[in-house]
Amino acid sequence: MRGLMQDWPLLCHKLIDHAAAFHGGREIVSRSVEGPIHRSNYRDVRRRALICAKRLDAIGLGKGDRAATLAWNTWRHLEVWYGLLGIGAIYHTVNPRLFPEQIAWIINHAEDRIVFVDLTFVPLLEAIRDQLKTIETIVILTDADHMPDTALDAVDYESWLAAADDDFAWHEFDENLAAGMCYTSGTTGHPKAVIYSHRSNVLHAMAASAPDMLGLSCRDTIMPVVPMFHANCWSIAFTAPLTGAAMVMPGAQMDGASIYQLLEDEAVSVTAAVPTIWLMLVQHLEQTGARLNHLKRVVIGGSACPRAITQAFQDNYGVEVLHAWGMTEMSPLGTMCSIKPEYAHLTGEKLLDIQEKQGHPPFTVEMKITDDDGRELPWDGNTFGRLKVRGPAVSRAYFRDEGGDILDAAGFFDTGDVAHIDEHGYMQITDRSKDVIKSGGEWISSIDLENIAVGHPQIAEAAVIGVAHPKWDERPLLVVVAKDGEKPARDDLLAFIEPKVARWWLPDDVVFVDEIPHTATGKILKSALREQFADYRLPTV
Ligand code: ADP
Repeated sequence: MRGLMQDWPLLCHKLIDHAAAFHGGREIVSRSVEGPIHRSNYRDVRRRALICAKRLDAIGLGKGDRAATLAWNTWRHLEVWYGLLGIGAIYHTVNPRLFPEQIAWIINHAEDRIVFVDLTFVPLLEAIRDQLKTIETIVILTDADHMPDTALDAVDYESWLAAADDDFAWHEFDENLAAGMCYTSGTTGHPKAVIYSHRSNVLHAMAASAPDMLGLSCRDTIMPVVPMFHANCWSIAFTAPLTGAAMVMPGAQMDGASIYQLLEDEAVSVTAAVPTIWLMLVQHLEQTGARLNHLKRVVIGGSACPRAITQAFQDNYGVEVLHAWGMTEMSPLGTMCSIKPEYAHLTGEKLLDIQEKQGHPPFTVEMKITDDDGRELPWDGNTFGRLKVRGPAVSRAYFRDEGGDILDAAGFFDTGDVAHIDEHGYMQITDRSKDVIKSGGEWISSIDLENIAVGHPQIAEAAVIGVAHPKWDERPLLVVVAKDGEKPARDDLLAFIEPKVARWWLPDDVVFVDEIPHTATGKILKSALREQFADYRLPTV
């Protein structure tokens, strides 16, 4: 017997319909790229998304067509996403921090037909325009008054929209149709394209807004500082309308002072971004003595959240930290470190120990750890292995990838992360499988060492890489950036780390640098560091 419930496809634009119908007046506040604060709401975003859809439809875009966006988080970017979704076209967020040649390669590979570009990135687009083979239309996300002097054959968004009205209905289609695409950073080889479906985005948004994940409601105001071009905006472009939460969009300015101003002026209750952003905010707070009067929760992920940041937010500012882990291939949220009853009695350092873990997954994410031969490892909070995941919002293949199927025999995707899982189901990343340091047949976690090193009061940033060693294969080398004006001593730093790790984990040497290289999404570029120190001779050799 089959169930007798309605067939109601899980389509992304139903989220904005819901928000407009039931939370229509809830505000979408943006710091515009032009400068001033702009105020909109769900009703208006939906109305303008319909106009955008009508315009796209009129120029012949539809199901399966790709549209690039090179844009910050603003109300216009949100309208464009929903306009595309509503006609079955695909939002393709391009990370503008990539090298121009990479951006051109990605747009050509995706065969994007139209590009929506912020004023900030017009020079970038001008520089690569000749290389773009499939772009037919360029829309600059501004109005006629702010149009730059450009050689591009481009129109401003507001004039482009003005050529249509909102008398338009979303198209109907299957929930498994592609909705969005996002290329992973690709620190080696070409980037790979992840393709989300309407169904996967909606299911993921439902899972991601649950109380132990983002825990969003219509009483919240959420500010995604994480850019829409980074890993599907961590689902926030979907979870906010799903729950009716108000949104604050930070536009192009993500320094400590600008972020602080929006948090306070707009009474933001929840926000999310990578650790670097929060490091800047905490520094701003410390320098100015400012307080956080509205913020309740901060979601920190993308790379391991340093203990010192969690401590600063919670102890000094009364803001709860939620450490999150995920990846582009997972839509992207995989786990969140909310506190289960089993750990509810913990306080102080013991609680921070748990919060250093990346947390536990929501329903829809299955997880296992295995050895190199695929044998499952125990959940003892100690034994680490390859972290593999399965679920309706996890990739099963990349777009136009010769690699084909990327799953194991049981349908699990290898995340490329190394992790352990404890008895209560809390996962902790110990490394990327390519970054782990293999010393005498044993694995040393570079992330653990980095976390400890940045706990030293004179250290701003730390990276640990494996350097060749004739006896042990590889030994850890600690690369650090000192805080402004500080001159930490090598031996003092090693003495600080020594009591906190197994003896054989202690780095063989320390090098001080002015800067550590980063990827376009703010992660430490280990491959570049390994190259830079390829010939480094450890004192222990
Ligand atoms: P990009 O490099 O484009 O940012 P992803 O966002 O997909 O690509 O990167 C996912 C990877 O980031 C994960 O596989 C993991 O290695 C790392 N990562 C994400 N969150 C965390 C975290 N909280 N702690 C440690 N590593 C993390």
